[in-house]
Amino acid sequence: MAFLPVTACVESIEQLSPNFIRIVFSGPEMRTVGSHKPVFDQRIKLIFPNPGKDLPPLPANGDWYANWSALPEDSRGVMRTYSIRSLNMGAHATTLTVDFVLHTAPGFTGPAATWAANAQVGDKLLIIAPRLDAESMGGIEFDHGNAQCIVLAGDETAAPAIARILEDLAANSDSSLTGTALIEVPEKADILPIAAPAGIQVKWLPRQGRNHGELLFESLGITAKHLTATPADGDTLVWETPAFSATGEPVSSDSTARGEYYWIAGESGVVTTIRRSLIKDKGLDRSRVAFMGYWKRGVAMRG
Ligand SMILES: Cc1cc2nc3c(=O)[nH]c(=O)nc-3n(C[C@H](O)[C@H](O)[C@H](O)COP(=O)(O)OP(=O)(O)OC[C@H]3O[C@@H](n4cnc5c(N)ncnc54)[C@H](O)[C@@H]3O)c2cc1C
Repeated sequence: MAFLPVTACVESIEQLSPNFIRIVFSGPEMRTVGSHKPVFDQRIKLIFPNPGKDLPPLPANGDWYANWSALPEDSRGVMRTYSIRSLNMGAHATTLTVDFVLHTAPGFTGPAATWAANAQVGDKLLIIAPRLDAESMGGIEFDHGNAQCIVLAGDETAAPAIARILEDLAANSDSSLTGTALIEVPEKADILPIAAPAGIQVKWLPRQGRNHGELLFESLGITAKHLTATPADGDTLVWETPAFSATGEPVSSDSTARGEYYWIAGESGVVTTIRRSLIKDKGLDRSRVAFMGYWKRGVAMRG
């Protein structure tokens, strides 16, 4: 299997800004985790123990998800999806870094954010991440094909993936790539350094109390007509990429297409609004866009 759970230990914790905490994970089992390709927006699953409980017992091989789902709720812990901010495969140890958004306000928090806010060096969780020896990886959506101009847009939950994509592009790609990265964050103090390619302009959009998504809408030229429409996608996250459609729309992956490439992620309702505008009104080709709900207002994720 390309992905298997490993036990990871908190090696270090750094409060980066008011709303981001960086946690570096390591441990002997982490040696099996790795990638020979750019990480880009590689998603991983984290399984957090229930408060006061041990990590769920999972076999090292076999169908980890079936085994995990079959466990009683009080010993299963909770699973959530995160991005790899950085992966360092050193000669003697592998470390994996995750930047957690601290959405800890009463009524707006969840087990993952609470765990991160209270984490201590030595704490353990399970990480389901790509195995170093896996042939195919899966879980990476960013694919700009032959596009020479890219637009990345997202909120604070997408900031770690956007930063990783930009830093991987800067390290691996030709310098002719141009474009913009729009990153909406709660406040000015959440602006963090990113080593982006020279041709890509990084624009941080601190909300400073404005509504979630408003600054992204403004920057992408989205009109009032879309803002009044309520997305009707229930509890599910929008997930529409050239290779996959959560709604069953025909997919149209054409990696030779050259125009602009859009990668959009964040709160699902905001992403749905952006999608409607870019696809339906501006006529953007579906093979040139990836729209991903990373969380949904008022809904606890299930993994
Ligand atoms: C592919 C992918 C990559 C992701 N990468 C990252 C990452 O690198 N860093 C990161 O922090 N998050 C990331 N996320 C988002 C993260 O999985 C969600 O925010 C998740 O809901 C957090 O779990 P929780 O247990 O804290 O809250 P939940 O139990 O899922 O939700 C509880 C409540 O908190 C609210 N809530 C959830 N997230 C937020 C938020 N950010 N701001 C305000 N309210 C919120 C929900 O609406 C709900 O009302 C990613 C998600 C996906 C799908």
